[in-house]
Amino acid sequence: MSGILRPKGTQDLLPDGSPQLKAEFSARGHRHLVELAAQVLENAGASYIQTPMFEMVEVIKRGVGDSTDIVRKEMFTARAQGDEFILRPEGTAPIVRAFVQNGLKQLPTPAKLWTFGAMFRAERPQKGRYRQFHQLDYEVLGSDDPLIDAEAIALMMQVIGQLGVKNIELKLGSVGDPEDRVQYNQYLRDLFSPFEEKLSEDSKARLILNPMRILDSKSPGDQDLISELQPKMMLDFLGEAAASHFKKVCEYLTVWEVPYTIDPSIVRGLDYYRRTAWEIHHEGVGAKSALGGGGRYDGLAELLGGPHTPGIGWAFGIERLLIAMDTEGVKLPEPEGLLLYVGALEDSTLPLAAKLAFAARTKGKAEFSYKPKAPGKQIQDALKKNARFVALIGSSEAETGVVTLKNLQSGEQSTVSQDDLLNYL
Ligand code: AMP
Repeated sequence: MSGILRPKGTQDLLPDGSPQLKAEFSARGHRHLVELAAQVLENAGASYIQTPMFEMVEVIKRGVGDSTDIVRKEMFTARAQGDEFILRPEGTAPIVRAFVQNGLKQLPTPAKLWTFGAMFRAERPQKGRYRQFHQLDYEVLGSDDPLIDAEAIALMMQVIGQLGVKNIELKLGSVGDPEDRVQYNQYLRDLFSPFEEKLSEDSKARLILNPMRILDSKSPGDQDLISELQPKMMLDFLGEAAASHFKKVCEYLTVWEVPYTIDPSIVRGLDYYRRTAWEIHHEGVGAKSALGGGGRYDGLAELLGGPHTPGIGWAFGIERLLIAMDTEGVKLPEPEGLLLYVGALEDSTLPLAAKLAFAARTKGKAEFSYKPKAPGKQIQDALKKNARFVALIGSSEAETGVVTLKNLQSGEQSTVSQDDLLNYL
């Protein structure tokens, strides 16, 4: 390899036919996922939103939380003219910032929003984990009804179902209300403090800042200690309000036959979650890595200086969804073939061939030959491009204002007027 390389942890999304193309970096795969999600989510009443790729650092520090890995270790910051910015590591805090800043409270409630795009985290790159990756996001603002939680989860499952991915597990839990978490964190602090020396450096800091994060630790030593101490779970600490909310979410999902397992240990990596929290796992992506996850974040708007606005949302990693599809052998839908291939038989008819193809592009895919070729060769080229029709133009056709049109499926051939060509396609 020579020349300047792309930065570590980033990827080029490439077209079909690129040598050694991996499923997770297929540009067509990314587009397919976005289009499919757009349809599912917009059919459910969501509107598309897009926020800047970078934000003021405070949005992420306050929104995602000072104690998270994202803020402590994985921020991509950028400086310009004395200001410091952060490349967005996730979609929720920026969308809530945009909701508050742009007065979107005026939208009909609840406001359902979706987005997709690149996110940035300075992680150690490996399969399914990159420094620039892509997420699909769905957020609902303005309601704390458990029905909204259940619908959000069901929509996530619908996206997976329509993609054709099967071997997934939906792990559902609740991280309670803030007061429940205070109690739980105190319990964990009391439990882990005598063993502080055995904890990783990160988890020593977590012990002070946010002991729940210890349970989410990727360090094997921390995980051993957790297995040894067998801490009680967050679900055991839910207050009455959070417990009844959780029960309703589960009931709705059961009625809709959305399969889930209750995971009492679910913590989620971000600080803003409250009550419902979930992750979707797939064996192809590995036990420690989720395909996607989400949760409720009723206090987030206030953290960002806005009015109280309950919210809930989720994000899928697009690369990980593509890995899941690939390991299950689920193919992307084949791109449509050409509607029309226009072949010039002589140099002099090349411009006319091009013009007819341009006109046909109002109806579908159309290409033309860049060089004149014999009729047989043009038909071969059209077949290679999987075209439905081929139109041939030599000088005699050009003079009389016609083309020879062949239907490559039926083999039928006729002479049709150039002005009428579109009506035959
Ligand atoms: P999170 O915002 O951390 O809940 O992540 C939501 C989803 O984004 C995860 O389940 C992954 O599918 C994806 N994701 C998060 N971080 C990365 C990363 N570094 N590389 C690739 N995908 C990621």
